[in-house]
Amino acid sequence: MNNKLISFVRDTYQTNDFIPLHAPTFAGNEKKYVTDTIDSTFVSSVGKYVENFEKHIETYTGATKAVATVNGTAALHTALYMAGVKQGDLVITQALTFVATCNALYHMGAEPIFVDVSKVSLGLCPKATQEYLETNAKINSDGECTHKVTGQRIKAVIPMHTFGHPVELDELLSVCLKWNLVLVEDAAESLGSFYKGKHTGTIGDFSAISFNGNKVITTGGGGMVLCRNLEAGKHTRHVTTTAKVPHPYEFYHDEPGFNYRLPNLNAALGCAQMEVLPAFLKQKRVLAEQYQTLFADSDFQFVTEPDYAQSNYWLNAIICPDTESRNLLLKETNEQGVMTRPIWQLMHRLPMFKNALRGDLRVSEWVEKHLINLPSSPVKIG
Ligand SMILES: *Cc1c(COP(=O)(O)O)cnc(C)c1O
Repeated sequence: MNNKLISFVRDTYQTNDFIPLHAPTFAGNEKKYVTDTIDSTFVSSVGKYVENFEKHIETYTGATKAVATVNGTAALHTALYMAGVKQGDLVITQALTFVATCNALYHMGAEPIFVDVSKVSLGLCPKATQEYLETNAKINSDGECTHKVTGQRIKAVIPMHTFGHPVELDELLSVCLKWNLVLVEDAAESLGSFYKGKHTGTIGDFSAISFNGNKVITTGGGGMVLCRNLEAGKHTRHVTTTAKVPHPYEFYHDEPGFNYRLPNLNAALGCAQMEVLPAFLKQKRVLAEQYQTLFADSDFQFVTEPDYAQSNYWLNAIICPDTESRNLLLKETNEQGVMTRPIWQLMHRLPMFKNALRGDLRVSEWVEKHLINLPSSPVKIG
């Protein structure tokens, strides 16, 4: 299987060079728009591309308001701030995620509670979340959800749409409503992924998208906060731009702010990339289908989108029959210049989160031992 995979990937990308997991593609108006920002001198936090990029994202996702930020982590940090997460709060998330989810929490002075993922989505499991809360939480007389043992407030739930596969949002939302928790989606990986026809990141009150170099589209570095409520969206924009009250020359700031606004230079890249996003998504679906066919009669199981969702197939993944076959595949592909990668080590194994509260993580641990990501850059069709 390993050699079959290597030949398939080489044939697909038609190169003898190193093949990365996900590389950016610039085949549209990227140069034109970026050059335009330089010619205009508006390369920084003011300029038409930032607003255009936000409009593009609002139109595409259906979000009420989109606010561009310097990166996805900054978008998450802002989303948590806007969700009202405070120092000492607890926030439920998955141990199976990229570290940025937990870093954003950490910098709010909050602490994660790690709950298991679902085998269907590889994202936060609604059933496990409900069970954790039933055992460990109570609702106070003031309506706040509190941890029975530590007495800390549990404020929010952050599911992450792993590799672009949408989590079970209806079920998670009903758990959040029941326990008075704010739903914040880490949609960093899921631009172009839809949950029952709705774009991921539009169900939670606040969500974060990333435009890092390895994501579906890139702005070099960049992120976006999606907001469900218009007033909250305007407020989000305000805090990401130092909370400066607009005035032609006076400096007045009415609350603590962030300096997280995406530069116009990066937004120009984003506008051009949004024009080609639909083509990238088509190409990525074709590639995912080809991988699925390749692994159909093998011991390896290709990870497909859940029934209720349309995934962007950001990173293709397979589940290996055991850890030995996983390690051998990793070794042989990487030795031959075809990049493959195990999933992130679970968050509770990292030194800064080793003492975090957690539920049973059986599925997360199983995925950690068996999953491999495959090269997933969009391939031009025809
Ligand atoms: C990429 C990513 C982020 C944010 O990434 P930035 O590099 O800060 O843009 C956050 N969460 C997850 C799950 C990610 O994959």
